[in-house]
Amino acid sequence: MDLSLLKKTLDSLELPAFRYRQIVKNYYSGRYLNFDQMTDLSLPLRQKLSETLSLLSVSEKTIVGNESTQKALLELSDGQKIESVFMDYEDWLTACVSSQVGCPLACSFCATGKMGFKRNLTPEEIVDQILYWNQKIYPKYIGRVVFMGMGEPFLNWENILTAINIINSNEGLNIGARKISVSTAGVADKIIEFANLDTQINLAVSLHSADQKTRESFMPIAKQYSLAQLKNACNYYVGKTNRQLFFEYALMDINTSQNDAILLANFINSNRLFFLNLIPLNSVDGGMTPASPDQQKTFIDYLNKLGVEYSLRRSFGQDISAACGQLATV
Ligand code: SF4
Repeated sequence: MDLSLLKKTLDSLELPAFRYRQIVKNYYSGRYLNFDQMTDLSLPLRQKLSETLSLLSVSEKTIVGNESTQKALLELSDGQKIESVFMDYEDWLTACVSSQVGCPLACSFCATGKMGFKRNLTPEEIVDQILYWNQKIYPKYIGRVVFMGMGEPFLNWENILTAINIINSNEGLNIGARKISVSTAGVADKIIEFANLDTQINLAVSLHSADQKTRESFMPIAKQYSLAQLKNACNYYVGKTNRQLFFEYALMDINTSQNDAILLANFINSNRLFFLNLIPLNSVDGGMTPASPDQQKTFIDYLNKLGVEYSLRRSFGQDISAACGQLATV
């Protein structure tokens, strides 16, 4: 909801300040689909609010999926569209939210990257994706938020930070910092800024190759921030926060040779708080080729011999193109 318009509307009606707090509380509760359901407000006020404001800044165009993974195509007030994903996984109800319409970073394996960049999302549009899912699953609530949807969070950092403050605040969505994760393609200077925030929010880095040339070949951002710069920033993060840092590695035919395993082992084993998440690549039209089951197995055998600790992630939502790197609206 546009809170400045709400304030203006209430001011024009000369209503006391507590009304604003009451309506904001109702809004963040995620219980209400419209103002009319807020029966703790007078009927004329509910009517006025319905005429003037939209409760959510995102509206559902389509939704697909099953009980455990759902993907919604959401329209924004200017007609742009984003995708947002809900996952019911290991007792956690998780919202995977988008931070931009499209993405400027153009990673070759990613459907969002193929859309180009349209614009940043506002804090309200970010928070409203979670409230949208809360409305869907009420009386349950989203308990975990991951910024792994469309876009690079660190390129819309100011708005993400404002949204995170609302998501984390007990006057907002009251989701603990440890239940929030931000994933970056490797914007090294922002990783340092993030470390300096001294927050408990989790950080994940999309590594996908520990070889500079290979990484550059499918992640253009690697030309701007080299692996050496990225590693320095990651070491700084870990030194400053003493928190584990997660590296995402999608298994492709191009990054699963013996040499790739050796480079990856050197990278991950260089810091005891670096942790590797291996993910089967989700194929997208015109994207990269996933590693075959044999390639995956051989690569994992190499990593085992090199003493690398990792977790092998299941990929959710592949059947509905809701998995990592598959979100797109065109
Ligand atoms: S993987 Fe992430 S950073 Fe890369 S193009 Fe896709 S959305 Fe952007």
